[in-house]
Amino acid sequence: MSAFHEDSTMWVDGEYIIWRDATTHIMSHVVHYGSSVFEGIRCYAGSNGPVIFRLREHVRRMFRSAKIYRMEIPYSEDELVEVCRNVIARNDYNEAYIRPVAFRGYGVLGVDSRKCPVVVAIGAWPWGQYLGEDALEKGVDVCFSSWRKISSTSLPPMSKAGGNYLNSQLVKMEARINGYEEGLLLDEQGYVSEGSGENIFVVLDNKVITPPFSAAVLPGITRDSILILAKELGYEVSEAFIPRELLYLADEVFLSGTAAEITPVRSIDRISIGAGKPGPVTRQIQDAFFDIIQGKAEDKYNWLFLVKQ
Ligand code: PMP
Repeated sequence: MSAFHEDSTMWVDGEYIIWRDATTHIMSHVVHYGSSVFEGIRCYAGSNGPVIFRLREHVRRMFRSAKIYRMEIPYSEDELVEVCRNVIARNDYNEAYIRPVAFRGYGVLGVDSRKCPVVVAIGAWPWGQYLGEDALEKGVDVCFSSWRKISSTSLPPMSKAGGNYLNSQLVKMEARINGYEEGLLLDEQGYVSEGSGENIFVVLDNKVITPPFSAAVLPGITRDSILILAKELGYEVSEAFIPRELLYLADEVFLSGTAAEITPVRSIDRISIGAGKPGPVTRQIQDAFFDIIQGKAEDKYNWLFLVKQ
């Protein structure tokens, strides 16, 4: 992970300020109860300057995440879209990871947080490959976690809320300590859900399968893009409940996410997947995805938001 740029410009509640000055009080509600919603968005060096991948969809998801928690974001989606663009432009970034966050601030510390002000902030910093240097090329070794995925009966997975990532932290730390790059989760019913910070895809007999929202997954924007691209490439695509053993039998498995992009999985629990290296379908989908981002293929779905218009 790249270090933060502490001299960079952030936006906090309507003002552009220096990163190191963006502080909040320890008695803010979020510090104690994880009461935040956030986004992770990538800006790529496009052929005509920096482009932000599916910016509007990410901002929309943040508003949806907030709605579940009765959190009113005191800005419009258009305003936050514009701020994301400005944060990239003001810092002159070409490639960066953008982090919008909305949280319950300083006011009361009761569990009912509706009286706390909602603070909104957006920062960005350069960030390379999330799952290691060679992850996109060579694939990663992952394991099933001993933890289960949070469930919509208790902590709704469709909201990208700060508190959800306590579950992710347990999974990620356990996986890393045991020598794996990432951990996979089963949902409460025992079906495959997703990774600690990625959706998951299986390729079996040339069919592309991913768990449905009802398997406690975050509605990933990369996931959505892959469903569209795989269909366009002629694959039969489905959202279906996946039993654990199907992953071991799959021809290919890959993870998707803004940070992880499209990362092949070469083994699960030390069982090698397919040929034990990135497979042809994963490669084809990776190529289709990066061709759009790099301007080698037409951006027909309007996924790229040009920073300098
Ligand atoms: N699931 C979880 C739990 C995540 O944290 C992420 C990353 N935001 C994803 C899936 C992938 O979502 P996206 O493709 O929108 O980044």
